[in-house]
Amino acid sequence: MSSIIQLLPDHVANQIAAGEVVQRPASVVKELLENAVDARATDIKLILKDAGKALVQVIDNGLGMSVTDARLCFERHATSKIRQAEDLFSLHTKGFRGEALASIAAIAHVEMKTKPDQEELGTHIIVEGSKFVSQDVAVLPKGTSFAVKNLFFNIPARRNFLKSDTVEYRHIIDEFQRVALAHPKIHFTFYHNGSEMFNLPPSTLRQRIVNVFSGKTNEKLVPVQEETEIVAIQGFVSKPEFAKKNRGEQFFFVNDRFIKSGYLHHAVMAAYDGILKDGAQPSYFLYLSVPPNTIDINIHPTKTEIKFDDEHALYAILRASIKHSLGQFNVAPVLDFDRDSNLDTPYHYKDLEGATPTIQVDGNFNPFSDDKPNKHFSNYKKPEPTANWESLYVGLKQDTDEIGHITFENEEVTSSLFNDEEVEHSVHKTYQIHKKYIVSSIKSGMVIVDQQRAHQRVLYEQFLVNMTVNQASSQQLLFPLNLFFSSSEMDLIAELQLSLMNTGFVFEENNTDHIVISGIPVNVTESEVSLVLEQLLSDLQDGIPESSFSQNDTIAKSMAKSLAVKTGTHLTEKEQENLVNGLFACKDPNVSPFHKPTFITIRVEDLDKKFAL
Ligand code: ADP
Ligand code: MG
Repeated sequence: MSSIIQLLPDHVANQIAAGEVVQRPASVVKELLENAVDARATDIKLILKDAGKALVQVIDNGLGMSVTDARLCFERHATSKIRQAEDLFSLHTKGFRGEALASIAAIAHVEMKTKPDQEELGTHIIVEGSKFVSQDVAVLPKGTSFAVKNLFFNIPARRNFLKSDTVEYRHIIDEFQRVALAHPKIHFTFYHNGSEMFNLPPSTLRQRIVNVFSGKTNEKLVPVQEETEIVAIQGFVSKPEFAKKNRGEQFFFVNDRFIKSGYLHHAVMAAYDGILKDGAQPSYFLYLSVPPNTIDINIHPTKTEIKFDDEHALYAILRASIKHSLGQFNVAPVLDFDRDSNLDTPYHYKDLEGATPTIQVDGNFNPFSDDKPNKHFSNYKKPEPTANWESLYVGLKQDTDEIGHITFENEEVTSSLFNDEEVEHSVHKTYQIHKKYIVSSIKSGMVIVDQQRAHQRVLYEQFLVNMTVNQASSQQLLFPLNLFFSSSEMDLIAELQLSLMNTGFVFEENNTDHIVISGIPVNVTESEVSLVLEQLLSDLQDGIPESSFSQNDTIAKSMAKSLAVKTGTHLTEKEQENLVNGLFACKDPNVSPFHKPTFITIRVEDLDKKFAL
C-alpha cells in the first residue's frame, strides 16, 4: 500500500493554527498591542473600522524590525523573544510563541511598515492569506505599523460566525483596557470609525485607571500595597459602598500581564467578608509582581490563566493586605452611614500642610554615655527619666483624642481587654518569657504579647501619626552626620526627603554622593540612622510608592521594622508594661504592620478546662 500521509503546506497549517490564536477581531487587537509593548513602544495608536472587521491597525514607536526580521516575523514559530524552553521561566515579554503574526497573515490582508531607529529606510510588506504580495523599501518613521484588513476573508464560515459590531467592539474594549491598565507609562490612543474613543497619556497607575474608567472612579479607590519575599502587590480596590451588581472592573495583573484567577478572586472577596451586601462585587485593579520562575504562564495561546508555585501563600497575603487597606482607610465597617468624608484618608492627612519639623534639643544628651540598655525605651522617657508609661507613645495619646471620633474597628476589644481601673494605674504585673513574650493578667484571663511585633505596631502608628498629623519632633545632633550613598540611592532619598522630614529628619545638605543630617527623629539614636536609611532604601528597591500616603506608610513600616526591639532582648518590668500599654493604645493593636498577630489571649475558662482534665 502506498503511503498516504503528507505534510500540510504552510499556508494550510497556518490557517489551522490561526483558528487557535485568532477567534475574533479582539484577538488581533490583543496580539498587535502586545507586540508593540514588547517592542518597548512609548506611544501606541489603535485604529479600528467596523469593530475591527474591516480594519485593525496598530502603530507604535517601538524598536522596529530590520529587513530580514520584517520578512521572518510572518513565519510560524518565528520569535525574537525566546530561544530555548528554559527561557519560558524567565519571560519578560507578552509574546513568546511566535505564531501570532503567521496566524493573522494566514487569514487576513496584512500591510506592515517598519523601521528600526538606526536605519535610514524602512520596509513595507503586504501579505494576503500567507502569500507575500509585495516588499518595498520605504521612507518611514521609527517603529512599526500593522494594518490588518478583511479578517477571515478566506474562511467565510468564521467570518459569518462573528457577532454584531457592538459585541465585537465590546471584546476589543476589554482587550484594550487590559493592555492599557497594565502599562500606565505608555501613551495609548484609540480611534473607532474616525472618532477618538480613548486618549491615555502616560501617567501614574491611579490616573490611568481614572482615565480608562471616568473621573468618578477616583473617589472609589483605596490603595493596596504589600511587599513580601514571594510577591509584591500594589493597586487599588473599591470602597465597599461602591460595590456593583456585576463583575465589571476586576483586574489581576501578574508581572504586567492580565490574568484571570478564580482563586485569587476568592481571596479578594474574603477580604471584603462581612462588609458587602449579598452578591455585590467590588472593583479591583491588583498588580502582582512575582519572580518569573515561580509562575507557569499557560502555553495555550489565548488562555489567561497561569499557575503559581505558592498559591496558598499568595491567597493569604492578598487577602490580608486588602483587609488591611480597607481598615487603614477606615472604610470598614460599611454600616457607618455618617462617615465623615475627611476620614477617607487616615489621620487627617488631607489637612496637613507641609511642615518643617520643630527641633527639640535634648540638653541631657551625652554622646559618650553608654548606660542605655534599651535605647528606644530610654528615649521615650526623656526629658523626665521618671515619667510614666504614657511617654512610650509620646504624642499618640493626645492625638487619639483629636481623632477620637474615628470609629476604630477594634475599639471594643481594646477597651474591654483591661479593667478600666487597671489601665488607669497601669500596675498589673507583667512577665517576660524567653526574652520573646510578655505575659500579663487581664480581666478575662491572660494576654501573651509578642514583644517584637507589638513594638513594631507601636512605632509604626507613632511614625504615621507624626508624619501625618503632628509636626514631628527632632533631636538636633551635636555633630551633623555625613552619610554616603550611591547615585541611585541619592535619587531615592531626594524623592523621599519630604516624607523623611515629616518623621523628624533634618537635612542640612544634599550633595551628589552624600547627605548631611543635622536632626533625627526623637525615637532614633544616632548610631541607628544609617541602619534605618539603608533598610528603607532596600525596602524601596522596586520603586517609591506614588501616593504620598503610601510613601509615608512604607517609611513608617520600614522604620518600625528597623527600630523595634527584637526577640531575644531583655526588657525591664517597666519597659514590658510600657510596651503592653502602648500596644493597646494603638488603633489596630491586633496585628503588626506586617499583618502578623501581636498578641493572644487565654480566658480563665480555657485554663479551667485544662485543669479539669
Ligand atoms: P511573538 O510575539 O510570540 O514573538 P509574533 O508572531 O507576535 O510572535 O511576532 C514575531 C516577531 O516579530 C516578534 O518576536 C518580534 O521580534 C517581531 N515583532 C512583531 N511585532 C513587532 C513590533 N510591533 N515591533 C517590533 N518587532 C515586532
Ligand atoms: Mg506577539
